Amino acid sequence: LARLYLDRISASNLNAFLHVDPELTLAQAAAADARLAAGNAGVLTGVPIAHKDIFVTRGLRSTAGSRMLGNYTSPFDATVVEKLAAAGMVTLGKLNCDEFAMGSANENSYFGAVKNPWDLSAVPGGSSGGSAAAVAARLTPAATGTDTGGSIRQPAAFCGITGIKPTYGSVSRYGMIAFASSLDQGGPMAQTAEDCGLLLNAMVGFDEKDSTSLERKPEDFNRLLNQSLQGLRIGVPKEFFGEGLADDVKQAIHAALEEYKKLGASIVEISLPKTELSIPVYYVIAPAEASSNLSRFDGVRYGHRAAEYTDLNDMYTASRTEGFGDEVKRRIMTGAYVLSHGYYDAYYLQAQKIRRLIAQDFAAAFTQCDVIMGPVAPSVAWDLGAKSDDPVANYLADIFTLSTSLAGLPGMSVPCGFGQGEKNSRRPVGLQLIGNYFEEARLLNIAHQYQ
Ligand code: GLN
Repeated sequence: LARLYLDRISASNLNAFLHVDPELTLAQAAAADARLAAGNAGVLTGVPIAHKDIFVTRGLRSTAGSRMLGNYTSPFDATVVEKLAAAGMVTLGKLNCDEFAMGSANENSYFGAVKNPWDLSAVPGGSSGGSAAAVAARLTPAATGTDTGGSIRQPAAFCGITGIKPTYGSVSRYGMIAFASSLDQGGPMAQTAEDCGLLLNAMVGFDEKDSTSLERKPEDFNRLLNQSLQGLRIGVPKEFFGEGLADDVKQAIHAALEEYKKLGASIVEISLPKTELSIPVYYVIAPAEASSNLSRFDGVRYGHRAAEYTDLNDMYTASRTEGFGDEVKRRIMTGAYVLSHGYYDAYYLQAQKIRRLIAQDFAAAFTQCDVIMGPVAPSVAWDLGAKSDDPVANYLADIFTLSTSLAGLPGMSVPCGFGQGEKNSRRPVGLQLIGNYFEEARLLNIAHQYQ
């Protein structure tokens, strides 16, 4: 099985994989075979997986899609990597992503853009674009992703696969190269909800090495898979169906809602009035945290160091100037600005207050419904290059995923048909499911009934 996928990876032209080491993979596969033979295998033993290059790994480079970490190999495995390996999963390699997970199209990677397997002229979404493209193209049956403001859900939608961002704090952030720590959350990306549940079972758990890790009783995330949806109340936020939503996406979402009615669910119109504010709020908070997190890349301890410099300060400047790409620099500057004396109250503090109100909107909505449904993104995948010079156009496309992250709620993307794209191609549409805290098992059931 590992060999089959390795062959597919080497024949593929999507730029989804950044680092592969067949020897390492085949050694892990042999170890999995031995476990199977010894009768000590679990459901994931021997199943291949690939990791977003944001998770650090001992045997393979970990670059976060950045020149800054172009040659970096970690001395330890991320907790997620360790847990999946302990379950017997076989690592196929590391997956391309936007630099430090900043982006919505995977065009911000130092190692080049990833192509969408459904249409090679389209972006795969971002920042977990390599993960989504690799699963969609069957280069791996499963992948890890991270979602800070939509980076699991949106690429899953653009590539027609299933992905879930669990409740903030469920999956350890240890060894997940930090972007915005109060938002970052890892999760699985695979073909189906059932596969995502199996992966979540292995990924979730308390980790003392992550200060925001949650301590909860272990649960089987697939335990509700076969439950009927009779009586389920689906909240449909009117703010998710406004002017900016493309017609083809709207039609696909409405068709999915009709299916849910046939499965016994009812539709309730709800309101999430602060939806529009999630963009300015997120693009203040995430850069603020990023500017702090990325200060560790100073060219001294690890990462890129400029070849020429005059003194210590010049070495910092030259290393960071060379090591970071434009989008990362833009965020560091935005973040430093909103945190600076005199602007902190006006931007950062205000953003934190509205963040709380956004969470309250969801709390109010969940008194009226059991699950929230809407589009993952306002359009299907756009053409490669179409928005690459326009950061704000990328930010605006995040409108439906940011609020879930700001509230720390679980969110999921489920394939629900196709739209047209700019050249009349078939480009996948994702249905977003948003649940209350710790309702992952229910979300997986709701997705599974539809799939
Ligand atoms: N697109 C958003 C951003 O650029 C979200 C990225 C993410 O979730 N990592 O920040």
